[in-house]
Amino acid sequence: MIRLSKSCIGAEERQAVSLVLDSEFLGMGDTVRNFEKDLSLFLKRPAVCVSSGTAALHLALQAVGVGFGDEVIVQSLTYVASFQAISAAGATPVSCDIDPESLCMDLIDLESKITKKTKAIMPVHYSGGVGQLNEIYFIAKKYNLRVIEDGAHAFGSKYSGKRIGSFGDISCFSFDGIKNITSGEGGCIVTSDKRVLQKVKDARLLGIKGDTERRFSHERSWEFSVSNQGWRYHMSNIMAAIGIEQLKKHRVFFLKRQILAKKYDDIFDNVDNIKLINHDYNVIVPHIYIIQFSNRVNRAYIKKSLEDNGIQSGIHYYPNHRLALYKDSSVNLKNTDQIYPTILTLPLHPDLEIPDIEYVAKTLIDLINNE
Ligand SMILES: *Cc1c(COP(=O)(O)O)cnc(C)c1O
Repeated sequence: MIRLSKSCIGAEERQAVSLVLDSEFLGMGDTVRNFEKDLSLFLKRPAVCVSSGTAALHLALQAVGVGFGDEVIVQSLTYVASFQAISAAGATPVSCDIDPESLCMDLIDLESKITKKTKAIMPVHYSGGVGQLNEIYFIAKKYNLRVIEDGAHAFGSKYSGKRIGSFGDISCFSFDGIKNITSGEGGCIVTSDKRVLQKVKDARLLGIKGDTERRFSHERSWEFSVSNQGWRYHMSNIMAAIGIEQLKKHRVFFLKRQILAKKYDDIFDNVDNIKLINHDYNVIVPHIYIIQFSNRVNRAYIKKSLEDNGIQSGIHYYPNHRLALYKDSSVNLKNTDQIYPTILTLPLHPDLEIPDIEYVAKTLIDLINNE
């Protein structure tokens, strides 16, 4: 079976985890501090590590004061994690449409959804591309809104020559098992905003003031002060040990994803009934590889037949505005509703080789032609 995605783990990660186990200090300590340092060097800004990408988004929203009665605009075509993070902060996620070329946030729909209650915009860097991020920042400035980038798909991607996370307001990343690098589960918040940094450091440890600093110097807080709602969202030394080794391998991982995605692009170029996202894989690091079918292709049949040929595929994502929790009958997301039934995600991870990509692509083309 060719897997859609998977973790790519070597002897280095095993060894690093083993050292943490030997230390018998599994919680948050030196190893997490070191992972944060490495991430900060990589992204040229301070990074705070947490237990998941969802936790990173939740804490970032809370840190900029998003709460009850507030609205955050987010594209409907994203993982439910983006929406759950907003509702966890007490705010209302407002579903936004996508641009049909990038499948990232649509600027016209974004601006039309801004109200007095809007506090923040959450652009999702879908599949690793970032759409019209400069323009989103321009709109945010015009309406005095915060921007919390969901960069879960875009760790390593560049925009205008700079890495995602190295500029802008706040960027959040996920290191769950299948992302561009993994720490088992995990995530981080990256920003230059010192107030946000201090808030998320405290909030990840139940709101205990200064607990991060004490844990990093092998101490604990006994008589402490808590004045904000916090969560048990810190990263463990075990997770950080995996993350450090994965970050060391980023060049190989990124290059492999780019080479494989380019190979798909080359094979599918000018194939009838298949439309591609126009990504520049010299610049972005793809987390997932998406194709769009024309309306005459039966996606369910293709997905099932790929499976019969030993190929897993996926659908990213079921639109959030259709979920019971976020349903709003007044929203009309023309592009999302039109595009969702046509998308399919093909296998992409660094342990695949060019012949695997050729096999997947050839099988798919045969299926479409013989349908
Ligand atoms: C993976 C993902 C998240 C959440 O990250 P977790 O680490 O799994 O909590 C958020 N948004 C998107 C788009 C994702 O793909």
